[in-house]
Amino acid sequence: MSPMTGRTPPAITERTAAFWTGGATGELRVTRCQTCGWWLHPPLPVCRRCRGRDIRPEATSGRGTVWSYTVNRYPWSGAMEPPYVIAQVELEEQPGLRLLTSLVDCDQVTIGMPVTVRFERAGEAWIPVFGP
Ligand SMILES: [Zn+2]
Repeated sequence: MSPMTGRTPPAITERTAAFWTGGATGELRVTRCQTCGWWLHPPLPVCRRCRGRDIRPEATSGRGTVWSYTVNRYPWSGAMEPPYVIAQVELEEQPGLRLLTSLVDCDQVTIGMPVTVRFERAGEAWIPVFGP
């Protein structure tokens, strides 16, 4: 199962630009507190762990595991042809650091399955999706 191209481009703001454009260089970038090292996703202006304000995007490994998933069989958007898999992927950088994403290039999905990032182009954005 693989989502079709033609996704709706996300709104890119100053705060989310690093996340949406990291794919241009093959990097999954997530914001990280420079004071205590805590990763923050979605991006926040203040660290929820130490209240630090020096938050900057950093490249992650792009590796994680499937934390939860569901198979969508309904044509909600028209941009993606069902069925496709919507998943929460937990990045290896930190417990609880999860992205809502699509899984591609897999016939079977299991909880805990190792996955790596890849990117799909949508307008100016590079949408991170994951596969085995
Ligand atoms: Zn912090």
